[in-house]
Amino acid sequence: MLGKNHATTAIASWVLSSSYLLDHQPQALEALLLAVVVGFGSLLPDADHPDSLLGRRVKFISVPLSYLQGDRAILPWSEHTHSRGITHSIWALLACYWLVATQQDYATALAFGFAAHLIGDALTPAGVRLLWPISTTFRFPLTFRTGGFVEYGFTYGLLIAAAMHLLGFNLLHELFMLVANS
Ligand SMILES: [Zn+2]
Repeated sequence: MLGKNHATTAIASWVLSSSYLLDHQPQALEALLLAVVVGFGSLLPDADHPDSLLGRRVKFISVPLSYLQGDRAILPWSEHTHSRGITHSIWALLACYWLVATQQDYATALAFGFAAHLIGDALTPAGVRLLWPISTTFRFPLTFRTGGFVEYGFTYGLLIAAAMHLLGFNLLHELFMLVANS
């Protein structure tokens, strides 16, 4: 999944579900800050990739990480890959929650964004190695190509659902009611 789509799907999912995850209704400024944290969390796992949205800005982290993962060889013309290593594991997810755990809501938002990224990558054919360094790859039965038509459809679908939610149409609630009444 592309960085911008990771951020969009994570923030849209947060808008749809945050009322179930937070123990209070945040004020406008706090809600905005939490959404920014979700977006930031959703870009964090790709800090291991020097060409990613975040990795481009923190080359001092992304370049050494990509060498460590074996994504780059010392020779400049060698093929660059993205193997999704430690930064795409549940260990990194737990660490980023733990690092801000004193700020419960922000820890939840950061971990939410991070987890949304891992789910997004598990929706691509390459999958994710959640238990890195164990090589078992996790992916959903249905996957789509990174940057492809289905990825954009999925992203815009969530974006529209989140926009409707902000306008007062509670989709999750309607769905629950539909299931409960059937
Ligand atoms: Zn990724």
